[in-house]
Amino acid sequence: MDIVEEIEIECPQCGEIFTIEVETTQPRLDLIEDCAVCCRPMTILVESEPGAVVAVRVTAA
Ligand SMILES: [Zn+2]
Repeated sequence: MDIVEEIEIECPQCGEIFTIEVETTQPRLDLIEDCAVCCRPMTILVESEPGAVVAVRVTAA
């Protein structure tokens, strides 16, 4: 089983779309990423079950 999944994130500040890799072994992941385009931070909440991402929520940090 593939535990690492790529998900698409849209920057809440500038709308840029990029992908990140998450481990689906974590039921709930809180990440803070800086946008590669506008450099502003965002909080990414990822809910997973083993092998699949079930929900992604992005908010401006
Ligand atoms: Zn941005």
